[in-house]
Formats: sequence, structure tokens, C-alpha cells
Amino acid sequence: MGLLAEGTALDWPDAQKYADQVREWGIKMLAGLTTGLQQLLEIWNKAKTKERDALLWGDEVEYLVVTYSKDEPKVLLSLRQADILTALAADEELSNQGGGVPAIQETQSQHSNPLPVFHPEFGRFMLEATPGKPWGIGFKELLGVEPDMKLRRKIAIEHMKSNEYPITLTTFPRLGVPGVFTDPYYPASGSKLRSQFVPDEIANPHIRFPTLAANIRWRRGRKVQVNVPVFHDKNTPNPWKDPSVNYDLHQWPEDDDVRNGASPDNFIHMDAMAFGMGSCCLQITFQAKNITEGRKMYDQLSPIGPIMLALTAATPIYKGFLADTDVRWNQISRAVDDRTKEELGEEPLKHSRWRIPKSRYASNSTYISTDNRLRPEYLDQDLIIDENIKDKLMEGGMDDRLATHFAHLFIRDPIVIFAEDLEELDMSKADHFENIQSTNWQHMRFKPPPAGSDIGWRVEFRPMEIQITDFENAAFSVFMVLITRAILSFDLNFYIPIAKVDENMETAHARDAVLNKKFYFRKNPFPTRPARGGGASGTSTPMGVSRPPTPTGPVEDEYALMSIDEVINGSHSEDNEFPGLIPIVESYLDSVNVDVQTRCELATYLDLIRRRASGKLWTAARWIRDFVDRHPGYQHDSAVGDEVTKDLVGSVIDITDREQEGKGWKGLDVPNLEKLLGKFRGGCR
Ligand code: GLU
Ligand code: MG
Repeated sequence: MGLLAEGTALDWPDAQKYADQVREWGIKMLAGLTTGLQQLLEIWNKAKTKERDALLWGDEVEYLVVTYSKDEPKVLLSLRQADILTALAADEELSNQGGGVPAIQETQSQHSNPLPVFHPEFGRFMLEATPGKPWGIGFKELLGVEPDMKLRRKIAIEHMKSNEYPITLTTFPRLGVPGVFTDPYYPASGSKLRSQFVPDEIANPHIRFPTLAANIRWRRGRKVQVNVPVFHDKNTPNPWKDPSVNYDLHQWPEDDDVRNGASPDNFIHMDAMAFGMGSCCLQITFQAKNITEGRKMYDQLSPIGPIMLALTAATPIYKGFLADTDVRWNQISRAVDDRTKEELGEEPLKHSRWRIPKSRYASNSTYISTDNRLRPEYLDQDLIIDENIKDKLMEGGMDDRLATHFAHLFIRDPIVIFAEDLEELDMSKADHFENIQSTNWQHMRFKPPPAGSDIGWRVEFRPMEIQITDFENAAFSVFMVLITRAILSFDLNFYIPIAKVDENMETAHARDAVLNKKFYFRKNPFPTRPARGGGASGTSTPMGVSRPPTPTGPVEDEYALMSIDEVINGSHSEDNEFPGLIPIVESYLDSVNVDVQTRCELATYLDLIRRRASGKLWTAARWIRDFVDRHPGYQHDSAVGDEVTKDLVGSVIDITDREQEGKGWKGLDVPNLEKLLGKFRGGCR
């Protein structure tokens, strides 16, 4: 999450009543869009030839903050985000060492080894933490991530009350359950969110967040509709009706939504942005050496997105019920879906400009690289773009492909506009562009250098779910860095049609997708090089295997359906030969100079990924399901009550406490911990 601007956020006008206001809003929005466009061109022109930036990367960890005590019957979400951040900001020792909260400018810290930095997030019960400065190219730096993540957790705890804990579960199992689930308690049904289930106070009170939530709802013309299929256990009625839905509420017009069918049978029904953006993830941002490399990274990492989503699955519970899905993605997507009925295709187009197939939060819809291996067949022929914006970008000198990408982002309205920003339309800033960019939550984000900084072109990898321990979060971060390095070093090619990436994203939601589902993946990732003396002979690959060149034939022949195990660990069956991402990373490590010690430490991370993919270890989603299932307080009716939740969160706290102590799992009474994590991380010393 970026820095938060101060100002007066404009409310979306009530379209029915204030036609003038709507028109005025339209004009303001257009001013925002046009300025955004000009700002983008400014940035692009300045930075398109920027060369040889350092290959840096950074990770972002998001936390839930809970109040937990062994003697209290309930674990609650703590809404003290602001106080915790204030405590962090006031800690001089921390800020003297470059840590705490970020400086006002996005400049790099003066410290050679700055302490971690904390940021607010959407939920008032959330925190985000990043390293004090980006990680560099060195292999040893990869080993700094886990200690840094542990340090973040330690620092966070030191600035909380003694009964507060930062935990890295993706969602709080009891968010939105009738009754008390926050500390302090606030009643639901506030004027901003108008949610039956969560209070307005659930969101970060900075004006951006409630405005974001309210304007999404206004634009959409009804509340967001976050429905997740319920998991049917042996005592779950069929059909199942969400028992917490109140059909008799008449406080806001939006209370009609449920009477109009917003809460269908067999779905857990949620109705506010907080149910999505209150979820936690693990994001990795890479700085490329130049724009060309950044564009390539963006494309090549795209098809890996759904694979990593399925592999990091950690979200089996919503609003007190077991869901039939394992990941958070679609729920966030629905929680910020501001499309009108016309854009959704539910009504004929009258006021809206397009039918838009996806939410603002969704898998990305186009490739952007200048790589000549990008075949036109991979692209979506029906991609919705703002032609006018595209023309302007191309008139400004941008190439077709990149202009298409940005013209697609610009089909979305800016949802939060500050009155002050419209008074002076400043082309040297990026605020209006960032406004569009930062509310296009795609699974990859291509980030131009911020105005007035020495930061380069960056690519953000966004699909991964946060993991319970720092060991796992470090492992997934390190894996992503290594596969990215291998992509660049071996010039790998993971292109498949972008529509197949979409399909994979859906597939990743299934319960235990990691074990039971198959994903489209490119069969031959190796570059083809013209054979010496011409002729279409085989190529020698980094794995030392000879392969035929990439076919120029039908695109369908280039990919196959593979299990996550095959994608990650490789497959050598007759009908599918794929090297596997881990073996590719291993051969990359063989090709560079890594000392024995470092190699051994990295191997423990790769081993976790390998075993998660093969099913030898469980995903967090599977482990949580097992925890609930074996708990005596669970009635096998899909309902996850306070007692179960308290024990689950208690166990999660115990696990990370043990991790901090570094003393192993021995004596820890947590069922099937070794199924999740394996033996306690031994280390190579
Ligand atoms: N928490 C969101 C997620 O789980 C991401 C928010 C952000 O972009 O920082 O995907
Ligand atoms: Mg974040």
C-alpha cells in the first residue's frame, strides 16, 4: 500500500437524486483521468530509456492483529492499528535505525542496514511490514529475509499491548459473525459500508478507505456481493441457508439487496469491502534493469501466478463457516467490484460505455513485453480498452502493446478523488495516474518509476497468500526471486494464452487444487536458438536435455494440463515432459557461484515448496481444515465457532512464538504441525 494523501475525498453522488452532481462528478472524473494520462506520458517519456537500474526486490507481509488471552473465551480483532503505528512512529530508537514507519518521501533510507518499516492497510485490524530497504542481487541477501521477517514480528509485538498479536492468517475466521468480533465493539450497519455484518469502524479511518468502500458501492448501485460456496460437511443441511443473513433489516435502501436475491442457497454471504480487502497476502516486487526487462518479467511471471496462488492456499474459512474454496482471490475481487449492472451485462448498455468482463481486482488481462516470442494468439482479441486513451498514448510515442495495457487500466473510473488534487492539475506528479493504477488490483502490476525518485521500473507479483510462519513466507519469497532470476538468465518462455491464465486462476480456488486440479502450462519453457548451419535441429537447454525448437504450429500444441506437482517438480511421463520450476531453479543455482553454506540454506526453502507441491506437506488451508475437523467443539456442520477459532489462533500464536525462540516444535501441542511444516527448520550450521 502506498502513502496516504490527506484531503477531502469526494463522495459519489446519489445518481437517482442529483443529476447535476453526477454530471459535475463526471467532469471531475474526466479531469482526473486526463491528468492521469498526461502524468503517465510524462513519467514514461522520462523513464523509458532509464538503463541499468540495480536488480532489487522487496517483500510485503500483511498481518491481522488479534487480542488473545488463554483466559478469555474469545479471540477478537484489535482495531488499534492507528495506535500501534503511532507507537512505532514514536519509537526513536527504531527510527534512528531507519525503521518504524516510512519517511514522508519514498526515498531510500540513509542507513546501510535499516530496520523494518510498518504501513497501514485497509482493515483497521491490519498491519503491513516491509524490509527497511530493498534486497539486492546477492545470494546471501536471500538468507536475510527470514530473520528480517521475524524481526518485523518481534518489533510489531513490542509495540502492541500484551494481549495483542500480529498473526499471518489470510482472513480472520469470525469476521462478520453476528455479535462481538472486534475489540472494541461497534455495531454493524453504518452509513459508509451499510453492511449487515461489519461496522464502518472495521476499515482504516483514513478518509481514503471508507470513501473507497462507499464509492464502490455507489457506483455499483448496490452493495458488493461476496458469496463463497459453503463446504458441505456430514451435518450440513442441503440446501444450506446462511443463518446470519437478516432479511428484516430496513435501515438503508441497500438492505433490500438480500431480499432481492443477493444471498443464494449454499453460499456464505458477505456484503462489504472489508471481507475482501481485510485479507492478507505476501507480495514480491522486483526492480528490473530497464523497461524492456520489466515488461518481460511481467509477462513471464503472469502464468506462474495461479500456480503460486494454489500452492499457497490458506483461506478455508469465511464469516464463521468452512468454505468450499481454499484461496482468497475471488472474494477480494467481488469485494471491490464496482461494475454497474450495464457493465456486468445484466442490463443493456445505456449509460455505461462497455461490458467489462472482470472486476478491478482480477488476474491481468494482457501481456506487455516486446519479446518476439509473444504470439498474437496469446492475447485477448476482445480486450476492453479506452481507444481514445490508447490513441493519446500512442500519439505521445508509446508503442501499441504498452498503450493497450494502460488503456485497459483506464477503462476504470477513479474511485477516490480528492477535491484539493483537482484544484491544481500538476503534471510533474503522478497522483492521478497512481489513483487509477493503484485501484487496478491485478495479479501482476507494472510500476513506472515514481516521479522525482531514482527508483526504476518495477513489477509486482501479487497473488500469493500469506503463510502462517516466517519460514514459509521467506521460502515463497526466495523461490519467487530465484525463478525470476532463472527466467532472465535462461531467457525462459512461459507464454500461454492469457485466457488460460484466467482459467487457471479459477481452478486455483478449488479445495485442494494443489493436489487434485490441473493447470494449463507451457510444455517447453526453453528458448529456441537457430541451430548452427541452419536447419531445425534440437537445442541444448540449460538442463542439458536436447529439445525440439518451440513449435510455430498451433498454439494449443504449446501447452498441456499439468498438476501443480508436475509444474513445480517436473514430469517425465511419455505424454508430458516438463522440467519443473524447482529443477530449473536448481540448475540456475548450479550455473552461478553460490557457496555451499548458502546453497544448503536455500535448499531448505526449495524443499518446502517441493513438498507442498507433491502433497507430502499440507497447504495452510488443508491444515486449518484438519484443525477444525478434529476439534471437539466442531459439530461437522460447517460452522466454525468461537472456541475453535480461539484454539486455532492460539496455536498459530504458539507456532510463531516458537519460531521466534528458534527452539523447535518439541512439546508443542498442535495437531499435525509436521504435516504443515515438516521437521523444525534445522539450518546448515
Ligand atoms: N491484501 C490484498 C490481497 O490480499 C492486497 C492489498 C495490497 O495491494 O497491498 O491481495
Ligand atoms: Mg498491502
